[in-house]
Amino acid sequence: MVPEKTRAAQDETSEEQRSGKPPDHEKQYVGFATLPNQVHRKSVKKGFDFTLMVAGESGLGKSTLVNSLFLTDLYKDRKLLNAEERINQTVEIIKHTVDIEEKGVKLKLTIVDTPGFGDAVNNTECWKPITDYIDQQFEQYFRDESGLNRKNIQDNRVHCCLYFISPFGHGLRPVDVEFMKALHEKVNIVPLIAKADCLIPSEIRKLKERIREEIDKFGIKVYQFPECDSDEDEEFKQQDRELKESAPFAVIGSNTVVEAKGQRVRGRLYPWGIVEVENQAHCDFVKLRNMLIRTHMHDLKDVTCDVHYENYRAQCIQQMTSKLTQDNRIESPIPILPLPTPDTETEKLIKMKDEEVSTICACASWMLELESRESLQGCPIEVVLRLPLLCPPVGSWGGGQG
Ligand code: GDP
Repeated sequence: MVPEKTRAAQDETSEEQRSGKPPDHEKQYVGFATLPNQVHRKSVKKGFDFTLMVAGESGLGKSTLVNSLFLTDLYKDRKLLNAEERINQTVEIIKHTVDIEEKGVKLKLTIVDTPGFGDAVNNTECWKPITDYIDQQFEQYFRDESGLNRKNIQDNRVHCCLYFISPFGHGLRPVDVEFMKALHEKVNIVPLIAKADCLIPSEIRKLKERIREEIDKFGIKVYQFPECDSDEDEEFKQQDRELKESAPFAVIGSNTVVEAKGQRVRGRLYPWGIVEVENQAHCDFVKLRNMLIRTHMHDLKDVTCDVHYENYRAQCIQQMTSKLTQDNRIESPIPILPLPTPDTETEKLIKMKDEEVSTICACASWMLELESRESLQGCPIEVVLRLPLLCPPVGSWGGGQG
C-alpha cells in the first residue's frame, strides 16, 4: 500500500512533468552550486604537478625517505661516490621526474636532489648553486608568463624543500643556519630530523626544542602551517594542533618491508626489534606524509606562487624600472614587458587624428559662415551638409573665404 504522503508527492511530480514546469525547489536553484564539481573535473583532467627539493649532507637518508614517501624508486641510476670523491665534489642539482597515478588522479612529481651539499671541508656558500637554481626557475616562469603562449606554461618552481638535519649534533650546525637563511625567502623550508631511530624519545624531544629555539634565535622563516578554520571539526583541529607541535618532524626511512606482529610493514630490522616507518609512536613519518601530500600540498604551491614568486617578481620589476629611469633603456635578461614609450606607428596615428579634428573644426566654422550668407538661404539642407566634404585642405583656409 502506498502511504498517503508519498502518493501526494507522486501526484505532484507527475503534475509538474505533465505541465513541463520545474518543481518548486528547482525554481530557486540557479546551478552555480556545481562550480566546485566543474573545477574538480577540469583539474583532475589536467593533472597536478609538484616539485620537491631535498637538501642535507650525504648519508642522512634523503633518497630512502623520498622513496618511502612516494613508494617509487626515484634513484635507480644513482652513482654513490666514495669519501675521496665526495671531498672534491661540488654541489650538483639533479632532477628526477615521475608520473604517478592514484584513483585516476595524475601527479607529475619532480624531485630536485642536491648531492654534494654540506660534504666539503669548507662549506662556505655551498648553498649558492641551490639558490641560483630556485631563481632560474622563477626567472623562467616570469619569462613564460610575460610571453605569448601563456596557456601552456610549465611550472618548475620549487614548491617545498625538505631540509635534513643530522640527529648526531646538539641542534643546528652553522651550515644549516646559513642554508636556511639563504633560502627562506625563496622556498618553503620544512626542516626534518633525519634517522630519528638513532635517538631515544627524550633525546628527540630535546633536539626538537633546541632546533625550534635556534630557528627563532636566528630569525629563520620556515614554512608556517596555515591557521585552521574555526568551522573545521574537532578531530581535524586536534590533528592540526599535533602537526604544529611535532615540527620539526623526526623521520625514519626504509626501502624494505619486514614482518612485524604478523603484518608486513615498511621498517628497519634491528637485533632488538623493528622500527616501523609508519608507526606514529616510532616517528613522524606519517605526519610528514599527510602534511606534504594529503593536507598541505596545495597550500605549499599557493605560498610559493603568492609569496615567494611574488617577491621575486616585484624585485625584478623594481630593478627593471630603476634601470629604465637610470639610462632610459633596458638591459635586463628578462623579456621586456610593453613599455610606456610610444612607437612611431602610434605617433603617426595620433598626428592623423589631430589633423582630422582640426579639419572638422575648420569645416564647422566655414559652414557657420556660409549659413549666415544670403546665397545659401533656401538651399536644400543636404547641400549645406555636404559642403564640408568639398572644402579645401586645412592649410589653405583663410578667414572669411567662401
Ligand atoms: P642520502 O645520501 O641522504 O640520499 O642517504 P641514503 O638514503 O642513501 O641513505 C644512506 C644510508 O642510511 C643507507 O644505508 C640507508 O639504508 C640508511 N638510512 C636511510 N634512512 C635511515 C633511517 O631513517 N635510519 C637509519 N638508521 N638509517 C637510514
